[in-house]
Amino acid sequence: MNSKLPNVGTTIFSVMTQLANEHNAINLSQGFPDFQCPDELMERVYFYMKQGKNQYAPMAGLPVLQQQIADKIDNLYQLQINAIDEVTITSGATEALFCAIHTVIKPGDEVIIFDPSYDSYEPAILLAGGKAVHLPLIAPDYHIDWEAVKKSVNERTRMIIINNPHNPTGSVLTEDDMLQLSIIVKVNDLFVLSDEVYEHIIFDRKFHQSVLRYPDLYQRCFAVFSFGKTYHVTGWKVGYCIAPPMLTSEFRKVHQFVTFDTATPLQYALADFMKSCPQHYLALPDFYQQKRDLFCRLLIDSKFTLIPSQGTFFQLLEYTAITTQDDVDFARALTINQKVASIPVSVFSMQPVREKYLRFCFAKDDATLVKAADILNQL
Ligand code: PMP
Ligand code: GLN
Repeated sequence: MNSKLPNVGTTIFSVMTQLANEHNAINLSQGFPDFQCPDELMERVYFYMKQGKNQYAPMAGLPVLQQQIADKIDNLYQLQINAIDEVTITSGATEALFCAIHTVIKPGDEVIIFDPSYDSYEPAILLAGGKAVHLPLIAPDYHIDWEAVKKSVNERTRMIIINNPHNPTGSVLTEDDMLQLSIIVKVNDLFVLSDEVYEHIIFDRKFHQSVLRYPDLYQRCFAVFSFGKTYHVTGWKVGYCIAPPMLTSEFRKVHQFVTFDTATPLQYALADFMKSCPQHYLALPDFYQQKRDLFCRLLIDSKFTLIPSQGTFFQLLEYTAITTQDDVDFARALTINQKVASIPVSVFSMQPVREKYLRFCFAKDDATLVKAADILNQL
């Protein structure tokens, strides 16, 4: 058949996880924890299932969960939103990203994305009839070149997608970045899709620069979050989109025909747990920083070079001292021969990349990290 996505294959996350499983490798490729979520959270899910909360939830999400989210946003980012009109629960951040893109993008519209970019953005843009305009982040710290952004905006540009903290590079945006973004989108009347699924995984006492901290900017934004990252439950696929009422109303026109709603007992349980245990997400920066520091320390005498990640649960490792192979081949060989799986970073960029990096997920038990580092140290 005539494919709608002729250049899209199976996502690298499935490819590498499958390869890791086939070869019994330690899987530091796809980003998911190898430890459990808190018991209390699981117990609440079972509690609500037994209570009979097993039928459809409201299309926009359970009001108790919407309210918990609105309260959290007020506490963290000092933005007062209306829970019912501005919070939509989605089936993972992936659904929210897809719906936000389809809410705004019409055939011929352009969307600016930054490479390396998370792999779900471009296919969603293409399916909406739009075009992704790829701008490189500038290595080694992977910052945004705002002058290049200004030059790329034209009358077809409708949206800029940012991802902060950034997967796969671990870079984070600064207050100055947010001010530059605010000016560009205001002057050019653009929308922003802000992927903030790693909002709580940020290190070295840095401050997460959510778009929700900037009330004027927020008026043009869809901000997307994921319970999967925050509560160690990536397989539950529960996320949410925060947007002003007018944008939310249009967003829901799409969302209601993509999934309609999201698993009911999970929503009840998450609402309870958000209320009873705010310290869970407040402790996440330290929890993951300890893992980042451990992983980096373990590799100090290896042939890899690294700049410690500033956020996310990913660490890039540069490997030119080990091999001249390209990253896709090296990641495959490392999985099959040494039994450690990672993600080749070049697949997230449209232009060929000079840097040679693999991405490793450190959302793992310390023992798993030690075992993986032992192997990597022998290369
Ligand atoms: N955006 C980014 C940057 C991600 O890393 C992920 C990965 N999980 C998602 C979105 C998707 O989140 P979810 O699993 O909640 O769909
Ligand atoms: N976000 C995860 C990662 O970056 C993967 C999500 C997925 O497998 N679709 O590894």
